[in-house]
Amino acid sequence: MTNILHYLDEVKICPHCNQQLTACEAPPIHVGDGLGWGAEVLFICLNDECPVFVDGWDKIEEAYGHHASYRYMELPGSKEKNYMMVGNAGAFTGCIIDREEILAKDKEYAEHQKMIARLDTAEEEKDITAPLAVLLNEGAAKDKRRQACEILVEIANLECIDPIRNHAFRDPGLESGVGLAVAAVLKKNFKKECPHCAEIIKAQAKKCKYCQGDV
Ligand SMILES: [Zn+2]
Ligand SMILES: [Zn+2]
Repeated sequence: MTNILHYLDEVKICPHCNQQLTACEAPPIHVGDGLGWGAEVLFICLNDECPVFVDGWDKIEEAYGHHASYRYMELPGSKEKNYMMVGNAGAFTGCIIDREEILAKDKEYAEHQKMIARLDTAEEEKDITAPLAVLLNEGAAKDKRRQACEILVEIANLECIDPIRNHAFRDPGLESGVGLAVAAVLKKNFKKECPHCAEIIKAQAKKCKYCQGDV
């Protein structure tokens, strides 16, 4: 992801309409098409008023007899002029690269890597933040999430139970493991969850102090 970012620092202007070119993800290449541009990013003039696009319809109609036009395009780090045939005004608008989105994803990824690194010392430091973050991250690797779950059992801090209970686990295998982990954390603290209101109460309680239900 990050290597796409340095392309985006480049500001390119369309020589035909003077509007800034838009960075788009290069479309997937069909083998045999000869359409490989050799770049991940294409800078395309998506201005519908651009003369290249406006005049292209008639030019292609005359030359080839079909309904299409052109968009002006440059490759990263190159001033070479390219013209790509497009069937409609919407072509390429679906692959516009969103710089903010890439930056946000990069930041999220870096944050996640930090949490993974913290797992090594979490148990010793009684740090539940990192293992919780990893366990509740649906995008994290399964073995890391299992490891995070084990660490939470070792630390046995009751504070981890609410965030876990409020999370929907997509992986049923992980979910049942988490259920056992919660039970282990409760047991280590001589607690249980009230079956009526789910509040955490003393293991030997006969009546829930929150809902007054018999337990
Ligand atoms: Zn243009
Ligand atoms: Zn209760």
